[in-house]
Amino acid sequence: MPITVVGSIAYDTVKTPFGERERMLGGAAVHFALAASFFDDVRVVGPVGDDFGEQQLAVLRGRRVDVSDIERIAGGSTFFWRGEYGWDLNTRETLDTQLGVFEGFVPKLSERSRSSDVLFLANIQPDLQRDVRAQMPDARFVALDSMNLWIDIARDSLVQAIGSVDCLILNDAELRQLTGKPNLVAAAREVLSWGVQSAAETGMRGPSVIVAKQGEYGAALVTADGFFALPAYPLETVIDPTGAGDTFAGGLVGYIAAHPGEALTDELLRRAMAHATVLASFNVEEFGTERIERLQGKEIVARIGELHSMTQFSGAALGLRA
Ligand code: AMP
Repeated sequence: MPITVVGSIAYDTVKTPFGERERMLGGAAVHFALAASFFDDVRVVGPVGDDFGEQQLAVLRGRRVDVSDIERIAGGSTFFWRGEYGWDLNTRETLDTQLGVFEGFVPKLSERSRSSDVLFLANIQPDLQRDVRAQMPDARFVALDSMNLWIDIARDSLVQAIGSVDCLILNDAELRQLTGKPNLVAAAREVLSWGVQSAAETGMRGPSVIVAKQGEYGAALVTADGFFALPAYPLETVIDPTGAGDTFAGGLVGYIAAHPGEALTDELLRRAMAHATVLASFNVEEFGTERIERLQGKEIVARIGELHSMTQFSGAALGLRA
């Protein structure tokens, strides 16, 4: 099923202990689209400024991503983000965020983008996420990502946006911050209860799938039926974690989109989690989009096999001593 994504399309300046890159191609929607393009057709919606080059669009086109709803705003500047990572890459400081063309942006989805069955509301102002959601009332599967900034400055709008989607994908710390619950499973259950409430009040489906991203520790899945968790794929060298969360989301949502005949069972979601984990692991091996740009399907398949074998254990019960 084709996927439409709205979110930041950006220039990122990033410093990690392994080097620096100035104004490289980035943005939540870009990282998502490149990852999801391994599974299905992807259409990106969002604005860029005069400073956004053909070379950047060519990266997306190179993975057959539909860029016709990327709007160039004359006289505007592309979203810009600057961040720096600590020595073990687990901490990140945002040093600058310039919304640029996203300020005052009114999304106008083409008929083609509106007709997608799957919608991903990547990280951007929740008002924009809600606007796009409203333009696609018939989408069969809708997922949303966000971040601490929007929880801090636009929580009410974000909670409304979450009430209108099937799946919430958030960092574990952000899930705790959003719900005010220190326990991750309790926090996820809280958001699931918003889903039940929103269905009762508005008749709209609310969130029934919660994914908590835990950086180098992996990711957890909470649904009404169960719990599942996978570690991150163990890499000895990580160069730049920027976009790992969006790449993870691209793998997860892309895998679900590519299985239109299957019900959204926990079994399907577990396979989607594995693909998400593997895509994210490739993303962090190099700066920005560099690694994913030349990733091949067969590399994904091989790493899925490795992840599968390293997360298996025998179910044989041990004879415990009384
Ligand atoms: P991640 O590492 O998965 O959290 O995503 C990093 C990407 O998110 C970068 O490419 C940034 O351009 C983008 N980003 C950073 N801050 C924001 C923000 N406030 N809104 C939207 N996108 C952002």
